[in-house]
Amino acid sequence: MTAEIISVGTEILLGNIINTNAAYLAEKCAYLGLSNYYQVVVGDNEQRLLETINTAKSRADVIFLIGGLGPTEDDLTKETAAKAFNVELVMDEEAKNNIVTILTNRGIDITNNNFKQALVPKGSIVLYNKNGTAPGIIMEEAGKVVIMLPGPPNEFVPMVDDQVVPYFLKKGTNDVIYSRVVKLVGVGESKVAEEISDLIAMTNPTVATYAKTGEVHIRVTASAANDDEAKALVKPVVKKLKAMYPDNVYSTNADETLERAVVELLSKNGLSITAAESCTGGLVCGKIVNVAGASEVFRGGYITYSNKQKRNVIGVKKSTLEKYGAVSEQVAAEMAKGVLEVSKADVAISTTGIAGPGGGTPEKPVGLVYIGCAVKNKVYVEKFNFSGSRNKVRESTVVAALSMVRKYVSSEYN
Ligand code: ATP
Ligand code: MG
Repeated sequence: MTAEIISVGTEILLGNIINTNAAYLAEKCAYLGLSNYYQVVVGDNEQRLLETINTAKSRADVIFLIGGLGPTEDDLTKETAAKAFNVELVMDEEAKNNIVTILTNRGIDITNNNFKQALVPKGSIVLYNKNGTAPGIIMEEAGKVVIMLPGPPNEFVPMVDDQVVPYFLKKGTNDVIYSRVVKLVGVGESKVAEEISDLIAMTNPTVATYAKTGEVHIRVTASAANDDEAKALVKPVVKKLKAMYPDNVYSTNADETLERAVVELLSKNGLSITAAESCTGGLVCGKIVNVAGASEVFRGGYITYSNKQKRNVIGVKKSTLEKYGAVSEQVAAEMAKGVLEVSKADVAISTTGIAGPGGGTPEKPVGLVYIGCAVKNKVYVEKFNFSGSRNKVRESTVVAALSMVRKYVSSEYN
C-alpha cells in the first residue's frame, strides 16, 4: 500500500516549527510496510487543503493528515477531508465527554467551539486522545484510508504508537496485537540495536528500537489469533531483553517514566532525595516533582549556579573550586556530599557541567558534565560528554542523573 503524509499548518510553511511529526510517521510507515511516496505541507487554507487531499486521493491508498484538528476557525482538516470524501460530520458523544472532562480539569470555560472537536466523519473510527481534546480519526472511504491526527507531538506520538500502528498491524489479519515496551537507560541505541540484531530480524514478534533523550525503548509487538497466544510470543523476548540488560531496564510498561520509577524505588526503600544543581538549574528537581506523590521522597533542592552559591549554600571548598574548577569530579563530589548534609536527605544528586554554546575549552569542552550521587556515606561521580544544543545537554544530564540514582540506590539497598 502507498501512503501520503499531509502536514497542515501555516506555521510549518513559514518555518516556525519543524515538521517532526512527518518524520516520526514516515519511520512508522517504513516499519509497517507502507510505501510513503509523497509528503506535502499545506497552510491553513481550505481551498489549497482540498486540492491537496484530492491529489493524494488520486495517488495514495492511505492519506495521513496531521494537525488542524483544533477548536478554532483555522482548524479545517476534518471539515475539508469530509468534503473531499463527501461524508457528513456527526457528534461523537465519547469525544465530547472527553473534552468536557479535560477542560473542566484545566479550569477552562467550555464554548461551543470546543465541541467542534468532537465532530467526526460519519462511520469513522475515533481515536480517543488521552493527552488532549482533539480525537484522531480513521476514515475508511472510497477504498482509501484517511487518518487524521492532532498536531501537538505529545498527543500525536502516543496516538500513532498506541492506535495507528496497531490498526495497520491488525488490518487484514483480524489478529490480536499485543505489545510491550522495554525501557532502558545508560546504554546507547546503536549498541543495543547491534546487540539485539537477531531479535530485530524476527517477524513475529517484531522488535524495534527507539532512541529517546538518554533512553532506549524497545517495542516488542506480536500478532496472533488471541490474546494469550500473542502474549506468549512477546513474553520470552521481553524476558531475554531483561536478562541481557539487567542494570539498564527500568520498566517494561509503556506508560512508566524514568522519574516515576526512581520515585517508586526511593519510596519503596523509605529514602528521601535532594539535589544541588548547577548546569541543570532545577531540571532534576522539576522532573522529580512531575511525579504525582513526589512529596513522599522529595522535600527540596538547591540551584547553586555560581561558585559563591556552591560555597555558601552547600559548603564546597574554595580551594577545590580554585584547584579543579567548578566543572570537575571533585566539585561534583563535594556538591553531592554538601547538599546531603545541608538537607539531611538520604540520597543526593549534584550536577555541574558546560551546557554551552559558549564556555568550552579544549580541556573542558561543551557537553562535559560531572554528576555526583551520594548515597549511604558514599559519593559516586560519573563523567559524561553529551552532544547537542544547550537544552539537549541539560536534558541528557537529567536523565543520566536519574539513571545514576536508580543504579546506586538499587545496588546499595536491594
Ligand atoms: P490544537 O488543538 O493545539 O490546535 P491541532 O491538531 O489543530 O491542535 P495544529 O493547530 O496544526 O494542530 O498545531 C498545534 C501545534 O502542534 C503547533 O503549534 C505545533 O507546536 C505542533 N505541530 C503541529 N503540526 C506539527 C508537525 N507536523 N510537526 C511537529 N509539531 C507540529
Ligand atoms: Mg490548531
